[in-house]
Amino acid sequence: MSATKIIHSIPSDPLTGAISVPVYQTSTFIQEAPGVNKGFDYARSNNPTRKVLEDVVAQLEGGDAGFAFGTGLAAIDAVLKLLSTGEEIIAVDDIYGGAYRLFTHVYEKLGIDIKYVDTTNAENVANAVSTKTKFIWIESPTNPTLKVSDIEAISKIAKSVGALLVVDNTFASPIAQQPISLGADIIVHSGTKYIGGHSDLVAGLVVTKTEELSEKIKFIQNASGGILGPWDCFLTIRGIETLDIRFRRQCENAQKVAEFLLKSEAVSEVYFPGLPTHKNHDIAKRQQNGLFGGIVSFSLKKDTVEAANAFVTGTECFKLAESLGGVKSLVCHPPQMTHASVPRARRLEAGIKDSLIRLSCGIENAEDLIQDLEQAFKKTEVSPATVAV
Ligand SMILES: *Cc1c(COP(=O)(O)O)cnc(C)c1O
Repeated sequence: MSATKIIHSIPSDPLTGAISVPVYQTSTFIQEAPGVNKGFDYARSNNPTRKVLEDVVAQLEGGDAGFAFGTGLAAIDAVLKLLSTGEEIIAVDDIYGGAYRLFTHVYEKLGIDIKYVDTTNAENVANAVSTKTKFIWIESPTNPTLKVSDIEAISKIAKSVGALLVVDNTFASPIAQQPISLGADIIVHSGTKYIGGHSDLVAGLVVTKTEELSEKIKFIQNASGGILGPWDCFLTIRGIETLDIRFRRQCENAQKVAEFLLKSEAVSEVYFPGLPTHKNHDIAKRQQNGLFGGIVSFSLKKDTVEAANAFVTGTECFKLAESLGGVKSLVCHPPQMTHASVPRARRLEAGIKDSLIRLSCGIENAEDLIQDLEQAFKKTEVSPATVAV
């Protein structure tokens, strides 16, 4: 979807002509007679500000309908409620930690089976599916090593066993990748990240491919009630207005940062799908519209938690914080932050070394970001300059 189309998919207010979407801060709507209303009756079921966001997100992803939730995990939870006891999920092995926690500690207890496989090889998925499989659940690219899976190939496997393909599209954003056009059935987003884009809210989104799925998610959204409030819907809509320009700048910055890191003597591995050295570069190039995202991860030659700590507390532009996708650059140390609950042995298996650092590039000037990284490397005392002294 072009930047023009995105901006003009957001309607002005038909009642007043207000060019920006009004915040309908109301819990209920006056009825003319019982059941006779203007399409809205109670704000859990529907709200005009939320409706604009949901319609825009459906268009962004090329789906039948969109649904806004209070957080990304609430969106994921709503999708999981489509399952019944005894059914099975085949999930990407380095799934977002919060999704892993929800799968394991809430849904496994309710009799849902979950099998984790390396989905970067579609054959692993084909070997894992069974007649019980209801969902194949992938993220692409993943966090933090940015593994990319072939959505189209996996969607064919899902169809062959009558399962649905769910794609968490948070890292690619709808600018780089529209999974429904590649065969996915349901998209989830943490709207907290690129879509909101300003680190000022938490939000979750679901987009469905078919009317049948839309009706089911609509029912769950109203029945469980984990909706996004009107003010945060407004902020998310405002974020979407600049999504295209922000995301493209973040991708450019990340590419430059990744190329800088690749040359840096302090660095041992760089993970960025835009580098030809990345394992999944070819599929990323085909699938992601030439856009590789704003996240770059790397590990240090001096592979210790102490060196990583010196680095992440030494950056100035890159603020030390969880989350990603906002206009301000962020740095995080997954082993002590986002992935602290994953046992070290499992982390190492997934390529998350003790010194692994994740950068979320914002929209600052690339030169400033690179300069910031250069000065932070000096603080880790592993830069060539310091070693030479
Ligand atoms: C952050 C994130 C989520 C969870 O979203 P919240 O808004 O924090 O609840 C889910 N998936 C991915 C890939 C994420 O990065």
